[in-house]
Amino acid sequence: MNLNDAIQECWRKIDEGQVANYIPALANVDPYQLGIYLFDVTNDKKAEAGASQVRFAIESVSKVITLLYAIERLGLAAVEAEVGTRQTGFPFDTVLNMEITKETHPLNAFINSGAILITSLIEEQDGQSPFDQILKFSRKICNDPQITLNNDIYQSELRTGDMNRSLAYYLKAKGVLNNDVATTLETYFKQCSMMVTCRSLANLGAVLANDGIAPWSGERIISTEAATYTKSVMMTTGLYTESGTYSVKIGVPTKSGVGGGLVSAAPSHYGIGIFSPALDSAGNSVAGLALLELVSKKLKLDIFRY
Ligand code: GLU
Repeated sequence: MNLNDAIQECWRKIDEGQVANYIPALANVDPYQLGIYLFDVTNDKKAEAGASQVRFAIESVSKVITLLYAIERLGLAAVEAEVGTRQTGFPFDTVLNMEITKETHPLNAFINSGAILITSLIEEQDGQSPFDQILKFSRKICNDPQITLNNDIYQSELRTGDMNRSLAYYLKAKGVLNNDVATTLETYFKQCSMMVTCRSLANLGAVLANDGIAPWSGERIISTEAATYTKSVMMTTGLYTESGTYSVKIGVPTKSGVGGGLVSAAPSHYGIGIFSPALDSAGNSVAGLALLELVSKKLKLDIFRY
């Protein structure tokens, strides 16, 4: 498959979306970018095209990393006791369904309430703040020592993050937040403001696709059960309210972020990182998903195919 042709085919989709503007620092990003990095874990082959080297804010794709880190630190059972694995049917910053169903714990780890709760589980250790640990783990699992915090985006999230603030206080009021609100939100906003490339995300996807083992070193970074759990949750809740739609269309566990990033893990086949900042109304990269759909069809990656 020629990736440059695939990018050309999906380019016009950019016009159907808009860059996120509720975080002001993201509104300045040029929408006309589309990039992809493919990591074939069985043959150790890599391919890339378009804006594959551009750094962008990881945003909600960081929820995959903190979830994996929390599972590694606390064990899957401890994490499963904190968040469910169900879809909400509401946007990512909702708290409504907890109100309606009288749940005390968020319905899944990828809506903001769930992700904030997961972040609160990570406590300072050996003098390392929760964010320092997340950054270190991100660099390792993405095989990218150049991941750094974008302070402008972090400040922008801090200034405008009142919905997330309200979610954190709501969780505190329910008695389920594990850390104080200020530390939890500082960590959460910082984790969202890490700068990655398509390659970093493809590496993350490759570890997930490869049963938790880094294909570049043979080192086990996460357990089989952490990889399996996380891929399942990506499949069912990774693409906001459109998760079901794209499970059918693409059939590959994927998580998106409002920075325009997508990470996919096609089990035993590929780790994929995609970037295109113009989003649909659900918050997913429009051209990015079109490209992922095309790649999934061409490479026959749909996990329900057999
Ligand atoms: N920092 C963003 C927020 O919490 C992330 C949202 C997203 O990428 O889904 O609103």
